Amino acid sequence: MTVMPRPSILSVEPYVGGESKIPGVNRIVKLSSNEGAFGPPPGAIEAIRAMAGEAHRYPDGGAKAIREAIGARFGLDPARIVVGNGSDELLALLILAYGGEGTELVMSAHGFLMYEITGRWAGCRIIKVPEKNLTTDVDGMLAAVGPRTRLVFLANPNNPTGSILPQSEVDRLRAGLRDDILLVLDSAYAEYVTRPDYDAGAKLVDASGNTVMTRTFSKIFGMGGMRLGWCYAPAAVVDVLSRVRGPFNVNAAAMAAGIAALAEKGWVETSVAHNTEWRGKVSAGLTAAGIKVWPSEGNFVLADFGDAARAKAADEAMKQRGLIVRAMASYGLGSCLRITIGNAEECSMVIEALTAFMAQNG
Ligand code: PMP
Repeated sequence: MTVMPRPSILSVEPYVGGESKIPGVNRIVKLSSNEGAFGPPPGAIEAIRAMAGEAHRYPDGGAKAIREAIGARFGLDPARIVVGNGSDELLALLILAYGGEGTELVMSAHGFLMYEITGRWAGCRIIKVPEKNLTTDVDGMLAAVGPRTRLVFLANPNNPTGSILPQSEVDRLRAGLRDDILLVLDSAYAEYVTRPDYDAGAKLVDASGNTVMTRTFSKIFGMGGMRLGWCYAPAAVVDVLSRVRGPFNVNAAAMAAGIAALAEKGWVETSVAHNTEWRGKVSAGLTAAGIKVWPSEGNFVLADFGDAARAKAADEAMKQRGLIVRAMASYGLGSCLRITIGNAEECSMVIEALTAFMAQNG
């Protein structure tokens, strides 16, 4: 007999990240994980180097400096900010603290995969609500809520669809939820949004008392490898997180890099301008090639090839050119590939590869 975990653990399929190697292909362009187009800001690289000699020291368990830097940048009270080993960790801690056996977690059918993975291992029943036109359906979410619901997750913008809800819809969602339900607004891609009717969520956190906003340094600041995320939460939720998080959950290099990244002048503006320009160009180029591209407010686009076989063939054709994008079968979107907006050269390679592919397979 082998030792067995709790039964809910075995219902979880392991998260499979993007590959980073293709046999026989020397130059790889990795556009599968929505990493920032420009890598980390130079100041962050310096900060990581500078921390190396301090590696024997435990980091500041209270994460004071990084919380203050985030607070100053976003105009938020540092006491209401909690940092995590990536925002994934904070999402998991919230699920463990507020969910678990006997509770339900409500999410959009094609919402971010980690809500389901973590929710399942925590023992929550996962309720997936069909979207309308691949956009979260607020009425459907509200109708799916039951007496056991404790958590509602909304990625805004959503990964992998790229879709977004205007603030009025997010407010309507919150207003329709009971007070004993935590609404988690996952704003990992907030910086990339260009629509004016959007808000990343801090206002709603302040207004509601039972809403949390999560953010990350993995996207706009190109620091996915550092694992640095944060959330802005009501004081009671901050208190709960401080009980369940590990004492040194974020490492010293990540915090130093985060502070340096926030100080990097113009980084966000330049990155957003690049993303807006090339998200538009990639969308237009693929559309011109005969591929349906879902509207996106993130740093990626969802390209829909109409059927799974053609999406698979397109994935293969891109691999031949060293382009690694994300197949969407595990998200239940087998006809689609999710393509991160890389630098200008990388985006041009995507347009060229898929234009050539469609000329043969369209
Ligand atoms: N939320 C969403 C919607 C994401 O796409 C991601 C990254 N794939 C995350 C959260 C987690 O990001 P991280 O743990 O790197 O902060």
